[in-house]
Amino acid sequence: MPRFVDTHCHLAMKDFSEDLPEVMDRAAEAGVERILVVGSDEAGSIDAFGLVKRSGAGRLFTAVGIHPHESSSASSGIPGTVAEMVRDPKVVAVGETGLDFFYDHSPRDVQERVFSEHVALARKVKKPLVVHVRDAYGEALKILRREKADECGGVIHCFSGSLEDAIAAIDMGFFISFAGPLTYPGNGPLRETAAVLPLERLLCETDAPYLSPQPKRGRRNEPANVAYVYQTLAQIRGLTLEVCAANISLNASRLFRWGAE
Ligand SMILES: [Zn+2]
Ligand SMILES: [Zn+2]
Repeated sequence: MPRFVDTHCHLAMKDFSEDLPEVMDRAAEAGVERILVVGSDEAGSIDAFGLVKRSGAGRLFTAVGIHPHESSSASSGIPGTVAEMVRDPKVVAVGETGLDFFYDHSPRDVQERVFSEHVALARKVKKPLVVHVRDAYGEALKILRREKADECGGVIHCFSGSLEDAIAAIDMGFFISFAGPLTYPGNGPLRETAAVLPLERLLCETDAPYLSPQPKRGRRNEPANVAYVYQTLAQIRGLTLEVCAANISLNASRLFRWGAE
C-alpha cells in the first residue's frame, strides 16, 4: 500500500473539533503517515502547536505563522508567541505566510511587510517557509529574492502560478506543492506545469478543510483525501502511485527534516 504525506492542512481549526479522532483514523487507513498542521494566525498557531505537542511521537508536525489574510493582526510585528514556538523541534517550518492579492483581506503594504518579517524569522531559526501566494506571484518572488529566502528555502503551497513562476521559485531552492485544484477538470495548464517540473521539487497536500479534490468537491476536505492528489500527479508523471508517493515523501523529509519514513 502506498504511503503518503499531507504537507499542508489545518487540523486544529474548528472544522475538525467534532470528529478529529475519526479524521485521523481515516488518514491512517488511507496510508497518510505524516501530516503538517499549519497555523494561520496567532491563536491558530497556538492551537496547531498544542495539537501537535499533545499528539506525541512521529505523525504530526507543525508550522506557525501569520497568513496574509491576517497580516493586519501582525502589523506591529510577528507576535512573540509565534517567534517563541518556532524554535520548538515539532515546528518544522515558518508559515503560512505570503501574499494574497485576490482577496486583499489585509492591505497589500502590510502583507508585504509581514511576509518579509517571516522570511527574516525563517532565516534566523534556519527553518523553511510555508508560502501562500494568490494573484501575487511577481511580488512574492521579488520579496523572496530581496529577503534572501534561498538561505532558508521552503514551499509554495497550493501552487496556482505559471510554469515560469514555479521555475523561479525552484531556482531559489523552493519546493512546489499541489493540492486539490490539480484534480479539477478546468486546470489543464496547472497539470501541464506539474508534468514538467523536476520531480524532486514537488510536494502534495490537501489544505484541508479547504479545496477538496474532484471526487469530494464541495465537502469538507481531510488528510485522507490527499490520495486523490497523488493519483492525479502519478498519472500526469506516468508513475505508479507507489513510486510517486515514495518520491514525494522523500522530498518532504528533505524539506522539513522530520526524519526518514
Ligand atoms: Zn494557504
Ligand atoms: Zn493553508
